[in-house]
Amino acid sequence: MSSGTRVLVLNAGSSSVKYQLIDMLDGSRLASGLVERIGEANGRLVHTPRSGSKRESLEVFPDHAAALKSVAEELAADGVGLDSPELAVIGHRVVHGGLRFTAPTLVTEEVLAEVRRLVPVAPLHNPANITGIEVARSLRPDLPQVAVFDTAFHATMPEHAARYAIDKAVADEHRVRRYGFHGTSHQYVSRATAALLGKDPAEINVIVLHLGNGGSASAVAGGVCVDTSMGLTPLEGLVMGTRSGDVDPGVVFHLHRVGGLTIDEIDSLLNRRSGLLGLCGDNDMREILRRAEQGDADAKLAFDTYVHRLRKYIGAYYAVLGRVDAIAFTAGVGENAAPVRAAATAGLEELGIAVDAELNSVRSGEARVISPGYARVTVAVVPTDEELEIARQAFALVHTSS
Ligand code: AMP
Repeated sequence: MSSGTRVLVLNAGSSSVKYQLIDMLDGSRLASGLVERIGEANGRLVHTPRSGSKRESLEVFPDHAAALKSVAEELAADGVGLDSPELAVIGHRVVHGGLRFTAPTLVTEEVLAEVRRLVPVAPLHNPANITGIEVARSLRPDLPQVAVFDTAFHATMPEHAARYAIDKAVADEHRVRRYGFHGTSHQYVSRATAALLGKDPAEINVIVLHLGNGGSASAVAGGVCVDTSMGLTPLEGLVMGTRSGDVDPGVVFHLHRVGGLTIDEIDSLLNRRSGLLGLCGDNDMREILRRAEQGDADAKLAFDTYVHRLRKYIGAYYAVLGRVDAIAFTAGVGENAAPVRAAATAGLEELGIAVDAELNSVRSGEARVISPGYARVTVAVVPTDEELEIARQAFALVHTSS
């Protein structure tokens, strides 16, 4: 076993790779960065070392292998290269773990084959994650690689929450069920919320609202996920930046039969051109807030639709949990957009939910309570840190399995 304390976290998307090198002694970042537009003519790598200024290189990265090779060179230039004995493990974000992967998993040929078998249920994500693992393995074949799955935290959902009410045999044949995503974030934030309250996660029930460009809610009872808003794919649930969230499945048949759209066109419409973008032409909440402030009707409608769906899920998860101790807002919108937090919780005093306007307006990168002292439910802003959670899980696995 390596005595190293560093973890390289890789999050490989279809045309991008995000990375962070984390020292587990104190959770500090030794380097971080992003390669964008892999396979396109205008690739870009932005590398942020622990000290010194950011470095940007504009070059063509023909594939993920070329991108990761450049990342390795940047790390080596900082004296924290992949060949360092300090590096203990590479942790990979893998989006879909299906029913089998409910915990962080040491990558073997057999594990990779199983992740490949899941590609039909995660065609946009798992192939890139697999490529990331393969390239990282070729760069350091001797180093343990750990896959941390976005679906894993939700594997505890009871069957009645995970099932769609469709023919059971058909669902089982095609592995159609609710898996949920953003699990690493929901796990991290639900625990960080317990820490903020000075409680053990087992003692509290939390509704986590992960509101980024993608968005999902989860109901976490005593540290265990009992429901989440995303389903077979990340399309279900909240209104998101470009995804519709919940729609009547009949909309798909209608657009196909009456609208003449192909299945691929409808897929693209609901995933890439819907949500906030579809409603008002912008998917950045900052821009929507600015436009709404100036009286723009489409921006106002987008904001109201977004908030209405959020409130529906808060109400639903209140009923699922029975008792709610905390509501945690996280990710880009959740951490930064005070008007969203205010609107999502307004008028819910009967449920013990209230937000203090002054506390809500404070800007800070720290976890913080925004509800008044008298409120039964603690409403909090809890910054997420998926990379640190992946690093922790990967590091813990190599230390317990050796
Ligand atoms: P994420 O996917 O977690 O990185 O979140 C990205 C989204 O967060 C952006 O698309 C914005 O909509 C939103 N966001 C980031 N900063 C702010 C801000 N200061 N105010 C409102 N929304 C923000």
